[in-house]
Amino acid sequence: MKTAAEYLESLRARKLRLFIRGEQIDEVVDHPLVAPSIRTLAESYRLAELPEHRETFTAWSPFIDARVNRFTHIFASEADLHAKQRMQRTLGQVTGTCFQRCVGMDALNAVYNVTYEMGDGLHERFLAYLRYVQGNDLVVCGAMTDPKGDRSKPPAAQPDMYVRIVARTEDSLVIRGCKLHQTGVVNSHEILVMPGRNLAAGEEDFAVVCAVPVDAPGITLVYGRSPSDDRRYGCSVDQGNPGYGGQEAVVLFEDVEVPIDRVFMDGQTEFAVPLVDYFAGHHRHSYGGCKPGNLDVLTGAAALATRLAGVERASHVRDKLVEMAHLTETIYACGVACATRCTPTPAGTVMVDPLLANVCKHNVTRFPYEVGRLAEDLAGGLMVTLPSDEDFQHPEVGPLLAKYLQAAGDVDARRRVLRLIESMTLGTTSVPLRTEAMHGAGSPQAQRVRIRAQANFEHKIGLAKIIAGLTDDEEGGDGPSD
Ligand code: SF4
Ligand code: FE
Repeated sequence: MKTAAEYLESLRARKLRLFIRGEQIDEVVDHPLVAPSIRTLAESYRLAELPEHRETFTAWSPFIDARVNRFTHIFASEADLHAKQRMQRTLGQVTGTCFQRCVGMDALNAVYNVTYEMGDGLHERFLAYLRYVQGNDLVVCGAMTDPKGDRSKPPAAQPDMYVRIVARTEDSLVIRGCKLHQTGVVNSHEILVMPGRNLAAGEEDFAVVCAVPVDAPGITLVYGRSPSDDRRYGCSVDQGNPGYGGQEAVVLFEDVEVPIDRVFMDGQTEFAVPLVDYFAGHHRHSYGGCKPGNLDVLTGAAALATRLAGVERASHVRDKLVEMAHLTETIYACGVACATRCTPTPAGTVMVDPLLANVCKHNVTRFPYEVGRLAEDLAGGLMVTLPSDEDFQHPEVGPLLAKYLQAAGDVDARRRVLRLIESMTLGTTSVPLRTEAMHGAGSPQAQRVRIRAQANFEHKIGLAKIIAGLTDDEEGGDGPSD
């Protein structure tokens, strides 16, 4: 396994084609906008080195007969799924933000299962790639989300809106297109491209799963903006979370040639849905780990803000903190539940309970907003009206501000904790905790569609009919509508 320092060095060795705010950037590791996200991802390496986290952050791989970072591991048991979620909560607590490595982990597991079910030697080909990833402890960016363009049109009517195969040779294929919302891609070594929707006969060119190095010729990355990211160029206090941050980017594939040994699906449209289902199930479970970890930080910040303001003992404050913990643990509990009710797969791995994984992620589209609302309530308006750190450092107004913003605790401590709450609810690190919680791993409607399919309403109707003493011919009405 790589150390955190080796991970940073490995990033420097890449030759990315990357644009940030209209400029092509040659070296990202020390870039002020990118460095916090790299430090965040590096924690997945650093914690794996610590004896107290070894069981959680690492696992034994039968594929290379060695201990590997859990982010490259194939889930073989229920215990693996629980360890994964514990690892994610820990990382969420340590960084207070998105640590970016889960999409690749869940994608590796999805492709592992689907290639097994596809046959044709694709699984063996994927195993060779998996050994490469595990043996080199790589970060894999799972690339699923196509731009989709006009949602009323199928891929064939707007081919540029979906990554697709544009040429095939005997030993390679060429892909073109774009993937959006690529979490952590600039901090990755590899991109694992997957389709993100159902595909029909005739749409074979869109049914492509393949792996490409992030700096392969033809790949361009364009960095996403996030709220208040200008503060990354300023002092640490006003950043709120100066150490860590998430990262999203657009990935452009302009005729990228992929050697055949890195192609794991080529035209098998019938396996697009199973692939998406495996990925979505595991990734919706992932949110049951990272978001509770982030919410632990936000709840702690809110509690500290009330302590520093001298209102910690007020009964309504305690009650709101209890509500924040309740919502956080409800998300976590759904994650634990979907892992506990996992089932074996044909490939010999385990798959989370899909219904409970969808419920888990659906809670994530709501509860962080409520926890954030309560945090803002407890923080008070000062979290958004506080003058800048430059003002606090100014020889004339600084002492006056310090005098008038004195409360029960130290003014500088108060500023730091209010800025942290601001960052997590409205600022740079609100991205994973709010909108990304809404749309990552599928937007709320995606979960509702699956819940509708999996909740078995006919079974529930049957239960009600028995208790109400109804027989089928007494049911009346129009019967089930679908
Ligand atoms: Fe992992 Fe959560 Fe970030 Fe997704 S949002 S990559 S699950 S930390
Ligand atoms: Fe995500």
